[in-house]
Amino acid sequence: MDWQALRDRFVLPDGVIYLDGNSLGPMPKGVPAAMERVLGEWSELLIRGWNAGAGGEGWMGWPTRLGDRIGRLIGAAPGSVTCGDTLSIRVYQALASAIHMAGDGRRVILSDSGNFPTDLYMAEGLIATLRDGWILRVVAPEDVADALTEEVAVLMLTTVDYRTGRLHDMAGLDRRATAAGIVTVWDLAHSAGAHEVDLAGAGADFAVGCTYKYLNAGPGAPAFVYVRPDLQDAVRPALSGWLGHDAPFAFDLDYRPGAGIERMRVGTPPVLQLAALEAALDVWDGIDMAAVRTRSLVLSARFAEGVATRCPDLAPALAMDIPRGSQVSLRHPEGYAIVQALIARGVIGDFRAPDILRFGFTPLFIGEAEVDAAIDHLAAIMDQRAWDRPEFHARQAVT
Ligand SMILES: *Cc1c(COP(=O)(O)O)cnc(C)c1O
Repeated sequence: MDWQALRDRFVLPDGVIYLDGNSLGPMPKGVPAAMERVLGEWSELLIRGWNAGAGGEGWMGWPTRLGDRIGRLIGAAPGSVTCGDTLSIRVYQALASAIHMAGDGRRVILSDSGNFPTDLYMAEGLIATLRDGWILRVVAPEDVADALTEEVAVLMLTTVDYRTGRLHDMAGLDRRATAAGIVTVWDLAHSAGAHEVDLAGAGADFAVGCTYKYLNAGPGAPAFVYVRPDLQDAVRPALSGWLGHDAPFAFDLDYRPGAGIERMRVGTPPVLQLAALEAALDVWDGIDMAAVRTRSLVLSARFAEGVATRCPDLAPALAMDIPRGSQVSLRHPEGYAIVQALIARGVIGDFRAPDILRFGFTPLFIGEAEVDAAIDHLAAIMDQRAWDRPEFHARQAVT
């Protein structure tokens, strides 16, 4: 892979080392032109764009066409992914569909304490709506396999722990869950574009994810949802919006789900943001996820080893021998101030309460030179206690 050529496809401000692509990916250079094109279509075509806009089939066909392009990166067959709405919404949708497939008498949704809170909150909200004895059971990440009992209806996990970076064995857990009669919902927020994912090979029932992290489609970019191909025509879509209807423009009074993955569509697609997503996906054409994964592990190990040698006060949040996603997390009671001091020097990572300093290593635009410079900055900040200044302690709304 020509990593330098890939890096050149992103806009990155001078003097910035961006180790936060796991939270909001940088802008691919192709995005402004793609958005300009769609703005032009909007002004010229007006409502005709739904039928005649770019991509051949018009704007209306984009969610599933772009879903297929995402599918290539997560091991999903064409026609099994569609996009739109936010990840929180997609979690709710997939979970509600999964619950509907649950075996008799099962009333437990199993998740883990490494899951991102919104996934757990959405499960709580769904349970409160159902009002018929469902419970959410949250166990430690390492205890999930042993918690796959006959009470469990649905296993809902995020593959990578957003705090520590711990990576679940998706294929292994999915196999055990399926053998125990449990429906699976995987959240790929920190996996799509970060490491190899094989949804089909794992036999996953449902998966969801966002496109503004490793896929670089921009703030508020649409989420995606995957349904195993042989389940699609039986799945109850839960969010039964008109664009998931079999014939939206028949304007029937009754809902009748569309064929295949189309039934997971909800409402009007976010066309401007889909244009940004399309340009962001162009960068991934020809990219081999195995090569991305290998290089991300090399960069992560280089950073972790450098920090271990030069910053003894920063404890790794995850032992190096435990499988991880594409991030390295460190712990320190003053983590927030340390991250602020780093940002002041142009090294952008982020902080996750209570004490995690988090750094993403995305080989599309980070190389050895950036890793080494980030270690130098971090070591200087720790050696000089440069984080201990009032301005670095003042908390902002988004950390
Ligand atoms: C980033 C992330 C989200 C964010 O959800 P939005 O609805 O897009 O704000 C949800 N779940 C996980 C696991 C995440 O990492």
